[in-house]
Amino acid sequence: MTNEDVVRLTDRYVASTYGRFPIAIVKGEGSRVWDANGKEYLDFVSGLAVCNLGHCHPAVVRAIKEQAERLIHISNLYYIAPQAELAELLCKNSFAEKVFFCNSGAEANEAAIKLARKYFHDCGEERFQVISMEKSFHGRTMGAMAATGQKKVQRGFEPLLERFVYVPFNDIDAVEKAVTDKIAAVIVEPIQGEGGVNLPHEDYLRALKKLCEDAGILLIFDEVQVGMGRTGVLFAHEHYGAEPDIMTIAKGLAGGAAIGAMLATERVASAFTPGSHASTFGGNPIATAAGVAALRATIAEDMLGNCSKVGSYLIERLNDLIGVYPFVREVRGKGLIVALELTIPGADIVNRCLGNGLLINCTAERVLRFLPPLNVTEAEVDEGLGILKTVMDGLS
Ligand SMILES: *Cc1c(COP(=O)(O)O)cnc(C)c1O
Repeated sequence: MTNEDVVRLTDRYVASTYGRFPIAIVKGEGSRVWDANGKEYLDFVSGLAVCNLGHCHPAVVRAIKEQAERLIHISNLYYIAPQAELAELLCKNSFAEKVFFCNSGAEANEAAIKLARKYFHDCGEERFQVISMEKSFHGRTMGAMAATGQKKVQRGFEPLLERFVYVPFNDIDAVEKAVTDKIAAVIVEPIQGEGGVNLPHEDYLRALKKLCEDAGILLIFDEVQVGMGRTGVLFAHEHYGAEPDIMTIAKGLAGGAAIGAMLATERVASAFTPGSHASTFGGNPIATAAGVAALRATIAEDMLGNCSKVGSYLIERLNDLIGVYPFVREVRGKGLIVALELTIPGADIVNRCLGNGLLINCTAERVLRFLPPLNVTEAEVDEGLGILKTVMDGLS
């Protein structure tokens, strides 16, 4: 099938929930992908922060192949070996003591919200509301959508699940004012991804932690996008010296395989008991075997070190563009989640980059977002930015 064949079939038979670029990517290796017509692209999107180890990392491919030959699915009625292994790896490398596995970021957040409610139910406290941030993104299911502080995500699906209160990101006083005896938890992305790569003030997460502790409520970090090494540490909150009670992860967890997970301290997780929550595919052998391989490779191949080093390089090179192009406003980021904020909409630049063989993404309308694999090289960054500059030269 050519690009055109895939586009025609998709538009005819697949629900049109996505505004797609008219290419079908059929192959990937490292930081590069190829479309159905054979055109090569440098990929600085990584499936939206999913393929953190690059496309088809050999260790992940091997783990999936070997697991597929042995056992593809068995229910959580039984114990699952790679699930146990991945849970141990995650706990040994984080604040957490227990893991619940599911299949996506939204599902991980649903589990977090349910756990917060169950925890206070078991404590005999009537706390069921959650404070969430404006410009946040937590997913598209009913609960995760209600948690998402963006009207454009919620429009047309009202009435929302009640019990969410929205406050501005980075405003600790606003959170303090929103806390009542009905509040169970605060949910926050340590760095807002979809909202435009918004970084927290240096002491914001620590202040949130203290506020939650003093008020006796739970702190939930949504690390679905910025976790799993994306910022140069395994979990973004490690930069800011504050640990949550509950954390959700998904995107980069299994080197491209579909997975989600909710991690918690023992004290909080103990509110989940047999029958409390479940997922047919959650923690399945293929996804968790891929997760084990991905996490081991992330550590063994020093992806975190490379991410910090090349991330700083990317930020420096993007900073060089300020003053050169009148429509470039600001660069911000941490590790390899990097934003170039423009004064103009970014869609046209993204389209032209694609035509020139570079995949980048635009979020929050004016924010070009760069999410290359964590093992991207400085030479590949130079190559990508060369394409970006050619495109921008054509605009000014
Ligand atoms: C992508 C994302 C989600 C939703 O993940 P899905 O797997 O699409 O459900 C939730 N939270 C954050 C921060 C995300 O970036």
